[in-house]
Amino acid sequence: MRTLLKGGGVVSGRGVRRADVLIDGEKIVQVGRGLSAAGENVVDVSGMLLFPGFIDAHTHFDLDVANTTTADDFTSGSRAAIRGGTTTVIDFACPNKGESLQYGLDLWHKKADGRAFCDYGFHMTIDDWNPSVEAELPAMFAQGISSFKMYLTYPAMMIGDGAIYSALKALRRLGGICGFHCENAGVIDAMIAEKKAAGELSPASHPQTRPPYLEAEAVSRLLRIAQAADSPVIIVHLTNRQALEEAESARKRGQKVYVETCPQYLVLDDSVYFNEDFSAAARYVCAPPIRAKEEQTYLWRGLKRGLIQTVSTDHCAFTLEQKEVGRGDFTKIPGGLPGVEARG
Ligand SMILES: [Zn+2]
Repeated sequence: MRTLLKGGGVVSGRGVRRADVLIDGEKIVQVGRGLSAAGENVVDVSGMLLFPGFIDAHTHFDLDVANTTTADDFTSGSRAAIRGGTTTVIDFACPNKGESLQYGLDLWHKKADGRAFCDYGFHMTIDDWNPSVEAELPAMFAQGISSFKMYLTYPAMMIGDGAIYSALKALRRLGGICGFHCENAGVIDAMIAEKKAAGELSPASHPQTRPPYLEAEAVSRLLRIAQAADSPVIIVHLTNRQALEEAESARKRGQKVYVETCPQYLVLDDSVYFNEDFSAAARYVCAPPIRAKEEQTYLWRGLKRGLIQTVSTDHCAFTLEQKEVGRGDFTKIPGGLPGVEARG
């Protein structure tokens, strides 16, 4: 059955133009003015805008984390994506430390295959680095995994500067690329210990223990490691001016750096954490945290000037009941926000 969308405004990288769109099965076969409606299933879309399907390159569906599992699996998450106009998501296959990459990839196929309403692909987390993980890399590429993620924070995930350097070199040889969660680990842990000692355990302590400059420090360090490895990198969920300046400095010395930010950093500010009502504040706990209002200006400007290349959501949803476990200790609040539906 062919479907003809008639009378809409087609949005592309070159702007909006009036055109009809003819679809055969899942394929757009013709775009143009006054296409013949004979024999087609015609849908009148006059006055509406027709966008290409959006891609959300950063989601976490059905992820076991913080002693719980994210509220959205591939069924509910992909349904939300479609509602917002996103037709492809790229989720993160996450083997735990000690598990093989193949185990992680098989597990993610089990979670996603036959359960998703939209198209999907996977990046893969590297949270362990040793000869057997390195030996598995070519097999991952053969199965379609060419983008990876590493962490500069979280003891369960981080692999250390030396391992990042070696992993980047290995990925470069294979033509892959890696995204990085950039926050300083040690100082953040020390600041958390201070808050705990002072009995300041509400969500308000969350942004105070993860300041923007400790994100910028990790971005700076990562980019120097990438310089040593002569490798392009992606900074995921970048939140602030100082971190963006580090990316710009690296570009000025000739490095290839891609930057992603997320809607929560573009439209929300850190006043969300200073709500007396625990639930109201805890729902916004994510890392890096939502920043002070003035940072939004720099992110929007960065997008406009092409210093930031992608807006993905880092969709990682938890119910308010799940967030409850952190009442009395902000470090136990499962970190993450939904976004895959709202972004479109
Ligand atoms: Zn993420």
